Amino acid sequence: MNIAIIAHDGKKAEMIQFLSDYKAVLKQKNIHLYATGTTGEKAEKAGFEVHKFLSGPLGGDAQIAALIAEGNMHLVIFFRDPLEKHPHEPDITMLMRLCDVHNIPLATNPATAELLIKAV
Ligand code: PGA
Repeated sequence: MNIAIIAHDGKKAEMIQFLSDYKAVLKQKNIHLYATGTTGEKAEKAGFEVHKFLSGPLGGDAQIAALIAEGNMHLVIFFRDPLEKHPHEPDITMLMRLCDVHNIPLATNPATAELLIKAV
């Protein structure tokens, strides 16, 4: 199972907390984590094995969106910061749209992510 993790700067601490809380699930052999660049670096520092893409504003969200379109991503955990503006807003919208096009579970906050991860 391929899981994408993405967190905007204001949400990175929450993402690392979430990963740590669900380490037992997320470190299983059949789970593969993919992340935008900076989120991935922080997850690695927290002890996770992660395939890193470009940083979000440089195209990382678009790279993950491409995997969704190709049917290679099975769950997306995307902690957006709704209180900040983002230069790559079109990429963010595209990623979320493709989740809906391809019926891929998408959690945009920790409460939803918890519910989804409990079902994994
Ligand atoms: P980052 O990208 O993990 O490289 O910070 C996240 C984003 O802004 O979409």
